[in-house]
Formats: sequence, C-alpha cells, structure tokens
Amino acid sequence: MSTPRLHIDLDKIFHNASTLVARLKINGISITGVTKAFLGAPKIAQTLLRAGVTSLGDSRIENIELMRRSGIDAQMVLIRSPMLSQVDRVVVSADISLNTELDIVAALSVAAQTTRKTHGVLLMVESGDLREGIMPEDVESAVRIVRSLPNIKFMGLGTNLACRNGVSPDDRNMAELSALASRITPSDNAPPITVSGGNSSNLAWLFAGGEVGHINNLRIGEAILLGREALNREPIEGLFTDAISLTAEVIESKIKPSKPWGEIAQSAFSNHPTSKDLGNINQAIVAMGRQDTDTEGLQPTAEIQLLGASSDHLVLNTGVKKLAIGSNVSFQPNYSALLRAMTSPHITKSFAKRGVTPLAREELEILPNAA
Ligand SMILES: *Cc1c(COP(=O)(O)O)cnc(C)c1O
Repeated sequence: MSTPRLHIDLDKIFHNASTLVARLKINGISITGVTKAFLGAPKIAQTLLRAGVTSLGDSRIENIELMRRSGIDAQMVLIRSPMLSQVDRVVVSADISLNTELDIVAALSVAAQTTRKTHGVLLMVESGDLREGIMPEDVESAVRIVRSLPNIKFMGLGTNLACRNGVSPDDRNMAELSALASRITPSDNAPPITVSGGNSSNLAWLFAGGEVGHINNLRIGEAILLGREALNREPIEGLFTDAISLTAEVIESKIKPSKPWGEIAQSAFSNHPTSKDLGNINQAIVAMGRQDTDTEGLQPTAEIQLLGASSDHLVLNTGVKKLAIGSNVSFQPNYSALLRAMTSPHITKSFAKRGVTPLAREELEILPNAA
C-alpha cells in the first residue's frame, strides 16, 4: 500500500461518535458532527450520521458541496461566516450558517429569495475568546433584524471558545449564553431555539457536571476523530484515541552519531538546531515531512523518538531496534497534524471497516476540492 498514508478506522469513528451522541443526549444536547478536518470525506460523514449526529458542520462551502454531490441529504451547517462573495453557493448547499455580520445575513436573504429557499441563521455570540461573535449587548437587536428578513429563519445562538485565546468554557460563560437565549425565546409555543454552546473543548466542562442551562447543541469534530477533549487533550473515557494513524516508510536506517559536527548555523526550519549527544544511535529517516503534515503534532510509539523534520524527511531515533528499509512507522496525529495530512495531496487516505470483510480496505484519494 502506498505511503505516506492516513489510516482511518471507520468502526472506531462510529464508536466514538455514537458514544458521544448517547452521553450528550442525557443532557439534552445534540451533536453537529464537524467534517472540516477530513474535507467532508463522504465515508466519514456518513459514518457520523449513522452514529446519530443530527447535522453535519463544515467551515468550507466546498466540503459541503462535495457531501451534497455524494448524495448526503442531512442538515448541513456552514460553521464559519459565509463570505459575501459566496452567499449564492451557501444558500444552495447549506441549510444553516453561523453568522456575525448583518450585511452578510442581508445578502443571504437576497440570495435565498432569488433561489426560493429558506436559509437558517444561527448568530454567534462573543464570549471572551475574541474570535468570531456579536458582542452580547448587541445580540437582541441583531436577532430582531434577522427575524425580519425575508427567506431567513432565525435558528438560535451559538458561541465558540478555546480557539484563539484558549478561553475555557465554564459555568459563567455558558450561563451568559443561556441567559441571552432565554431572553430571545419566543413566549408562544414555538419550538426551542438552538443554543450551540461550542466545540470539543466544551466536553471537559460538560463531563465534570457543568451547568447545561439552555444549551442543546455542540459542534464536535476533534473528540470524535481523536477521542480527546480539546482543552488539555486528555483521552475521553470509553473512546478510541487511535481511530486515525499516519504511516510513513523508512528510506534510510543507519547507526550514526547523535551529535552533528562542523560549524553550526541555521537549519532549514529552525534557527537553533539542537542535537543532544547520546553517542551512537539507530537513526532512521521516513519519507514524510513538513510538506505533508505538522510534524510537531506526531506521536510515535514509545520506543521511537522524533529527532527532527525538514520538508520531506522525518528523522527518528529508533532506540534499540534498527528499522528495515521499506518498513512502516506509524504515528498518532494530533488535530493540527491530522488537518495538514488530510489536506495534503501526497498522502493516501485509506478507510478500513472491519464490519464488512476482515482486512478489506478501500483506498480513496481525497484531493483538495476544486470548485
Ligand atoms: C472547528 C470548529 C468546531 C469543531 O471544533 P472541534 O474542536 O473539532 O470539535 C466547532 N465550531 C466551529 C465554529 C469551528 O470552527
């Protein structure tokens, strides 16, 4: 099989997603399965839907369009503000988008009228992490305007934390969102609005018994794929942390000194290369580098140590073992490494599903989507 290769175990992803769906259901929280880290790959998207996520969310309209083309008819949410230049595509393929600018919502309204569609709008509220969001004091008037726009359906409120400044979801900022939501909930018998409290970084708060209030939705990607909450990257009990692995092939394997010699200046990617003197070591090079993934985000197995990386080479200390040329070395990617590997055209994506035939594997190339 070709390398480097991302190996994606759909059974483990199904297990992770359905476990989270069941646990969050206890708190009255639905899951929007976030597909951006795998470019909306239809096989993974369908696995999430089978596991019970109620909608799919992606930050890129291209990924949503790909899922639509592959026949997925689930509710789809664009989880980044639409670009003004893309509103026509957004109303065609996405049912709902997260918004913070009334100019864009107005343009969505025009586009939705032209195509005779109704587009759902969820307004994002700033809760302190200072990425996207309407300041809390401006939310009520924004909701009034959104509710008045033709072919726009106001869906509810959301917030996003821990992405720019690492501000953690807690009872205080979640209660603030809940309070805003209760102020704008229609008094009649209308169905409750969506209150989307955040992403995988909300899970530690939730599982520690956080005060859920009116929050009834979370947008979850990383925890499903990697089995970890996103604040301290601790494994979530009962989930697989090895549903996805990244494998590369050994192209050099030699006993070499660990200390470089000669005049030391800058290296390709670091101003201060440091190599500790451990005497002679088993050094191996695998054919994968910074061009393929975030090499800082790779976790090798216990006996292997990552020594350095350039654009196309990953240098390893392989401990007591000298690796054979052509053998494979696997790593667990973190979110950043996964994102980069998924979007790299040099990395083969291989999906395994034990449910069908043992060892039956299907290889799919996912190339960056051309619009
Ligand atoms: C990426 C993203 C998510 C999902 O985050 P995970 O950490 O992968 O769960 C949720 N909401 C928004 C707005 C995002 O951009």
